Amino acid sequence: MFAAMRTDRMQAVHLFADEQTGLEAIIAIHNTRLGPALGGCRYMPYASTEQALSDAIRLARGMSYKAALAGLEQGGGKAVIIRPAHVANRAALFEAFGRCIESLRGGYITAVDSGTSSEDMDCIAQQTGHVTSTTQAGDPSPHTALGVLMGIRSMARAKLGQEDLGGVRIMLQGLGNVGYALAELLVAEGADVAVSDLDAGKVRLAVDELAVKPVAASAVYESPCDIFVPCGLGGVLDPVTINQLRCAGVAGAANNQLVNAAAADLLDARGILYAPDYVINAGGLLYVALTHRGVAPGDIAHRVKLIGSRLDSIFNQSIAEGRSPSEIADHQAEAILYAE
Ligand code: NAD
Repeated sequence: MFAAMRTDRMQAVHLFADEQTGLEAIIAIHNTRLGPALGGCRYMPYASTEQALSDAIRLARGMSYKAALAGLEQGGGKAVIIRPAHVANRAALFEAFGRCIESLRGGYITAVDSGTSSEDMDCIAQQTGHVTSTTQAGDPSPHTALGVLMGIRSMARAKLGQEDLGGVRIMLQGLGNVGYALAELLVAEGADVAVSDLDAGKVRLAVDELAVKPVAASAVYESPCDIFVPCGLGGVLDPVTINQLRCAGVAGAANNQLVNAAAADLLDARGILYAPDYVINAGGLLYVALTHRGVAPGDIAHRVKLIGSRLDSIFNQSIAEGRSPSEIADHQAEAILYAE
């Protein structure tokens, strides 16, 4: 356990149990140098406590890097609630978790993640103020989409030598909360947009409303385009799909797009520029963190738009030094997190 913490330079891992509600939860705090740790709360079954712990640790570390490069005065943390086989009272379970958060006195601020909803955050809010993404706080997805749009513009500058997105061929995978909002923004900018989703209804809607082109889910990787935009699940960039890609760059919202660190080098070797996922998709984090601090909506949009200039600097350094954008981003984040 301590070895795992040392490897990931973790600050603290808290374990909580509540007999009455059956709650078993982990709050992993990676780094609070820049401010209190903020990160989502997962609610899912785990095969073992070890698996839940390693998930919490890995994800908390990712949040520190994301917050650092988003320019937030916020640390990285993540919570995992191990979903029991049977839950008598979900609201009571999340209220109990709210008391756990409150016991950390503001060291950790929670948010929605896989398996949790804004309604669950409302239950947590009964017990603590250290919670974002409640029903009242609003949906971060449009802000994530805005940040990704800025990242796509940055990629068009770096790779296509083009300031605007007019005529840029986009292959967008996943028309969920982020993907659909992004499709609207891209069409408004004059991009040539093709879309794909496992849900045929979402594709039909986009074709009807936005006049985008439909592509079968199985054909997205080999579909020729300028920029491939993954907005579905993570893990889509592996040796097989990377070899199929026929694009100049990858810039999308999905978390953990690379199946492993070697995938960044494979993209590099193929001359495909990659926008590190945690940099380009930070708009949602900026929204929840800054809303929680009471920052005005116009100022939040301004901060989200800065994702474009952050990526400009990463792409320029990557091209100048012949190192992958992922490596450059990690080094930039570590320079912020561990500066003497
Ligand atoms: P969502 O669940 O609303 O949408 C995902 C969509 O992708 C669904 O419509 C699903 O059918 C589709 N999809 C899944 N696999 C696919 C495939 N192989 N081919 C085509 N379509 C596929 O999720 P979302 O909130 O839009 O988030 C999208 C991604 O962005 C996720 O990876 C999420 O973790 C990440 N992300 C989201 C936010 C946010 O603000 N919502 C912030 C940061 C990162």
